[in-house]
Amino acid sequence: MGDPVAAGNGRSLPAGVGSDRVQLGQIAPGYDYDVLDEDEMGDRHGQVEPHRRMLTLRTDVYERILDHKGRDRFTGCHEVGHAVLHGRTLNRLAPGIRPARYCDPEWQANTFAGAILMPEHMVRAMRSVGEIADEFGVTRDAAEVRCRILGVTVHP
Ligand SMILES: [Zn+2]
Repeated sequence: MGDPVAAGNGRSLPAGVGSDRVQLGQIAPGYDYDVLDEDEMGDRHGQVEPHRRMLTLRTDVYERILDHKGRDRFTGCHEVGHAVLHGRTLNRLAPGIRPARYCDPEWQANTFAGAILMPEHMVRAMRSVGEIADEFGVTRDAAEVRCRILGVTVHP
């Protein structure tokens, strides 16, 4: 495991959110990040606060990113996606409003995370969902969704 104590000081997220350390401030200008315990985060695994330009990950999620756990890597990239795509204002959809799917900020952040973790040209060279999951350190579910979005047919 890496060094969670360094969180927020070095201005870079750990390897595992993407393929290398992520200089968050370079891709989402002005952004910093923090790691908070469950007593402060509750059920939230991560969050982005545009007004503070702050990306926060829950401690257990951060530690599992350092351990290269696929689900948590995806969560980290999802939050980076919010910072990059919705960094100035994160407009949550009002309950009951159903816009086009691609207009949903959660869909956008998930698609961002899938694209960062599983580059299209590399996915197209793979033969199975398991190979994609192993190669990119993602869950089988995430690999299946990425294939569906790209229209790639691979073995289950
Ligand atoms: Zn989100």
